[in-house]
Amino acid sequence: MKMLKCSLCINDEKTAKIKIVDGRPLCKECMNYLAHKPNKEKIKAELEELMSKVDKAIAAFSGGKDSTVALYLAKEKYKVDVEAVMIDHGFMAKEAIENAKRITEHLDVPLTVLRYDYSNIFRGALLKVKSPCKKCSSRTMGGLKEYALKKGVKFIITGHELPFGHRPYKIIRGGIIQIRLLSLMSEKERFKILEKLPFKFPDLPGYTTNCLIIGPALRQYYEKHGYSFEIRRIAALVRYRLINTEKALKKVSKPEISEEIEREVYKRLGIEKKD
Ligand SMILES: [Zn+2]
Repeated sequence: MKMLKCSLCINDEKTAKIKIVDGRPLCKECMNYLAHKPNKEKIKAELEELMSKVDKAIAAFSGGKDSTVALYLAKEKYKVDVEAVMIDHGFMAKEAIENAKRITEHLDVPLTVLRYDYSNIFRGALLKVKSPCKKCSSRTMGGLKEYALKKGVKFIITGHELPFGHRPYKIIRGGIIQIRLLSLMSEKERFKILEKLPFKFPDLPGYTTNCLIIGPALRQYYEKHGYSFEIRRIAALVRYRLINTEKALKKVSKPEISEEIEREVYKRLGIEKKD
């Protein structure tokens, strides 16, 4: 039997449950989206209103493309007194660190780099053929929250879109508010901003423009399961029409990764690589 593909996003039967609704195949997440369609105008208005009250914030800054756009908007569009905080987990692409320095200098924003060791998260993910992203980002948000509390800053701006949920912000325990500044912003709009900035694209696979772990992790996950662990997030971007289907499919295709980076990652994590 032919594999069903969702008619709205890029999920198929390998990656989601697909049902035929009124003659068209839809994945579970798209059905849910259509049943509770987010009100784009309302979300954008909510974001504008919130940003009008933010005078001081920390920007979670990875040196990747999305956090670069978020930092730019915070400083230039919303005139926030913003400090860029980079959590260096030990496996940042050197281009990301260079981008971080160049961008913050260009925007005249102070950059603070906090160094953490995430080797245990990354080693675990690679050994178990899992995505490292969830654990990595939750530890990163934890580190940023601690830093914000220490500095007495109430807002953390991040380069998240709004792939799930209906709110452009999230209240984190401790009274800190995370603002997803790129809520409902299309990739095209983001690229328009990046063009104005001294941002250089690193040669990394998948969605990342800053992390060395994702490539090797994506490759082995793809080899085991036949699809990318980034599919859910990228399918959501397609569903919201924030990225075009062709580009999305390219991002979730089998990654081509640099052998040099892969070897270095495994070596530094002390993992014996079997071929
Ligand atoms: Zn779908």
